[in-house]
Amino acid sequence: MSKICVWIRNEFRLNDNPALIYALHQKKSIDVIYCHHNSDHNWKLGSAAKVWLQQALLNFAKDLKSQNLVLEIKEMNPIAFFQEKDCYDEIVFNKAFEPALVDQENKVSDILKRKNIKSKIFNGNYLFDPELIKNKQGQPFKVFTPFYKHCLAMFEDLIDSQFKLQLKEYDSGSQVASCSQIDALNLQGVDKPWNRSWQEKMMSYWNMDSKKLIRNFCEHDARKYQEQRDFPALESGTSKISPYLRFGQISPFRIYHEAKKVNANEFIRQLIWREFANYTMFHFPHSINQDLYPNLKHIKWDNDAEMIERWQRGLTGYPIVDAGMRELWATGWMHNRVRMIVGSFLIKDLLCHWTIGAKWFWDTLVDADLANNTMGWQWVAGSGVDASPFFRIFNPYLQTEKFDPQMLYIKKWVPEYMTGDYPLPIVDHDFARKRALAILKQ
Ligand SMILES: Cc1cc2nc3c(=O)[nH]c(=O)nc-3n(C[C@H](O)[C@H](O)[C@H](O)COP(=O)(O)OP(=O)(O)OC[C@H]3O[C@@H](n4cnc5c(N)ncnc54)[C@H](O)[C@@H]3O)c2cc1C
Repeated sequence: MSKICVWIRNEFRLNDNPALIYALHQKKSIDVIYCHHNSDHNWKLGSAAKVWLQQALLNFAKDLKSQNLVLEIKEMNPIAFFQEKDCYDEIVFNKAFEPALVDQENKVSDILKRKNIKSKIFNGNYLFDPELIKNKQGQPFKVFTPFYKHCLAMFEDLIDSQFKLQLKEYDSGSQVASCSQIDALNLQGVDKPWNRSWQEKMMSYWNMDSKKLIRNFCEHDARKYQEQRDFPALESGTSKISPYLRFGQISPFRIYHEAKKVNANEFIRQLIWREFANYTMFHFPHSINQDLYPNLKHIKWDNDAEMIERWQRGLTGYPIVDAGMRELWATGWMHNRVRMIVGSFLIKDLLCHWTIGAKWFWDTLVDADLANNTMGWQWVAGSGVDASPFFRIFNPYLQTEKFDPQMLYIKKWVPEYMTGDYPLPIVDHDFARKRALAILKQ
């Protein structure tokens, strides 16, 4: 009997998974394969993301079981896997855009061509394929607004046809997944300074039903998104869908579909920021390790180890910064407004290179995403696409007045601030601001 292989890369879902849906319609025997392998050694999966991946794999295996499919996990490079395997007459998969994954995909495609094995590649993880979007001069966009307008113009045709193709509902299974292969990956392995009780506590903040999460958010909160999205104390000010999107447990098409039903256009605009980050990474792959623009090249960074540790632990003496860093440590997630505040503080007040912050986020975020993290950090530093200029330095006190005026967020994460048992600021903000500006001038 002919056999088809669905190569799972970063879409741990049954629904709206074009490669998988295609395979289910072929009336062939199906193997679903996930190769666990870190191809980019600079950006190996971080500790929090590993814990999340474990849950994502377990749920996905359970869902596949409902379709009488088994998730086969191989702890090896997919290039070697496809080089060795000769039993398939067709291989299907969804595109991934991280530079190391693009490289991997090209190599696998070459092998399949050489072996004369049919392959089919789908766009399942982003609304738009970055290869297909260029400005009038045929160049990649470097500024968000024209990119956004371009996407809006493409929406009707592209997305509607994608929906019809992809929004297929499959029931999730009730069976328990077999987890021995998943356990063998040792994703909960103790990477200092993490430990099991931390992992369990972190996951207790999350409920794995992403479809329900986005439906509820769109029904009740998405219309108020523009007014609420900057206030970190509001539980539903933003969707908190990012880790599910990162691991492809929900498709951007479904999120768009739910948001469109209630005309939540500002929320959709944020989804396009995600597209733009991916687009930038695809067209400028060097930006994952270096500034997109080299305008900060001559700055002499302090990178002081003690200051960095105080920042990581949420002990800077700036309550809004500490609240964010502690939220991150406890839940694996941090509110977007606060990500910008803690980022500005690290780079401009403590004079640390953005990659130090990016690495810490990479290890501690459950939504750690190479494109979004890179764009976010370079935006704060002032060296990326559409970036905030270096001289824009967030004042932590003014940010608190504006976005946490009753200090509800601070009370939640830094309760000792209210009782007075709290460290003094590790640096004086006015002094640090002037120092950063003087360095910039030089
Ligand atoms: C320094 C810094 C680092 C960041 N690192 C990451 C990261 O590793 N992973 C990550 O997913 N996001 C990152 N972001 C972007 C943003 O903070 C998160 O996507 C957002 O906070 C996720 O919460 P949410 O799902 O509630 O977002 P919502 O506000 O509900 O938005 C919905 C979705 O839109 C996308 N989105 C929203 N804001 C942005 C943005 N500014 N840039 C790109 N996409 C966006 C996300 O996919 C998000 O899940 C970073 C931002 C900064 C400033």
